[in-house]
Amino acid sequence: MKISIAAGLAAMTLSSMTSAATLAEGIKADMPQLMALYRDLHANPELSMQEVRTPAKLAAEVRKLGFQVTEHVGKTGVVAVMKNGPGPVLLIRADMDALPVKEETGLPFASKVMGKLPDGTATPVMHACGHDTHVATWLGTARRLAAMKDQWSGTVVMVLQPGEELVMGAQAMLDDGLFTRFPKPDYLIAFHDAATLPAGVIGVTPGYVLANVDTVNVVVKGVGGHGAYPQNTKDPIVLASRIVTSLQTLVSRENTPFNPAVVTVGSFHAGTKSNIIPDQAKLALTVRSYAPETRKLLLDGIRRIVRGEAIAAGMPDDRMPTVEIEQPSADATYNTPELSARLTKLFGAHFGADRVVEGQPVMAAEDFSRYWLADKTKQSTIFWVGGVPKAKWDAANGDTTKLPALHSPLWAPEAETVISTATEAMTVAAFDILKKG
Ligand SMILES: [Zn+2]
Ligand SMILES: [Zn+2]
Repeated sequence: MKISIAAGLAAMTLSSMTSAATLAEGIKADMPQLMALYRDLHANPELSMQEVRTPAKLAAEVRKLGFQVTEHVGKTGVVAVMKNGPGPVLLIRADMDALPVKEETGLPFASKVMGKLPDGTATPVMHACGHDTHVATWLGTARRLAAMKDQWSGTVVMVLQPGEELVMGAQAMLDDGLFTRFPKPDYLIAFHDAATLPAGVIGVTPGYVLANVDTVNVVVKGVGGHGAYPQNTKDPIVLASRIVTSLQTLVSRENTPFNPAVVTVGSFHAGTKSNIIPDQAKLALTVRSYAPETRKLLLDGIRRIVRGEAIAAGMPDDRMPTVEIEQPSADATYNTPELSARLTKLFGAHFGADRVVEGQPVMAAEDFSRYWLADKTKQSTIFWVGGVPKAKWDAANGDTTKLPALHSPLWAPEAETVISTATEAMTVAAFDILKKG
């Protein structure tokens, strides 16, 4: 009995070792093609919701692999489905948009592309968030899943999403029937390249990983007049200044220190000349949180403070300030504990514990959140794959404030390591989630 269990275990270990070796070899063989694709995407970036070339190219590639491919989902998104026997449905998502940033990396394949913002303004365009590594990984993963169909059972829904940087694309795809026209997922996974981890290191953050982000515009009205006769005016600059100061108490006095929250007034505009009291001042705020209760506390508090300060200043009812929350706003991204723990363990066993760390939550935004929020019974995780070249990491002594961040014109991830690591991680995650019965 003992002998047969031992023999069985040995056989299992041997077979999983063989498949790990086959997987690594397969990815290695694919890398020249994936790197050529990456350099091509990097040199030809496309702005949010204007992705045309990227999805067309990728749709053609996955169609050749035997996926059922639907284009123009949520304007420019691609959905590629592969059904491979009984089992759960796994959604694998990559975002594909670039940013209005002028590239300064000096890479031989740096972008020289000019694009147009929604208001028609011309702008340089760059893959400054590394979504080009996400797209290359998406294809790398599709290639492995198609080539190693004997290793898994279930359905894979590969989603190439537009418009992440405007937090619009995920919702656009959902509104266009992502969960009704295609197999509805039980599991959701994605990754993002990280400017705060050394190349090839994977970070998994359990629970909240990215924040609710609201942009709040406040117009503080006043009664303008001559600077020499303040008694005849209601000065909006003094009132707006009081509002800015009072807003600081939301995080420091009303919020529990155990719930992360940010209220930043990033813009304050008023007036034209020293001796004129203007009739309005404009404030723009970024408001960030994780928990929905915290978000409500901050947004309700802003409305209350803005109105309360205006009343205290004696502003007449018809000159009350206005508070507008810009749409779309971003909802916090939540990694469900069970799946994030499962992936941490799996990646540790596959890559070695030294290549897997617990990632830190950040106050940036991601619209990957929308897929889980559309159905919270599902399990969801977005993980990080480090992209900082080792020499640069060592030179900065791991101090990430000395390194270019995501969205920086200097951000140049070590793409080969990011793409090969992420492809391997995505594929082993798929094999594990879609384990044969
Ligand atoms: Zn970004
Ligand atoms: Zn991004």
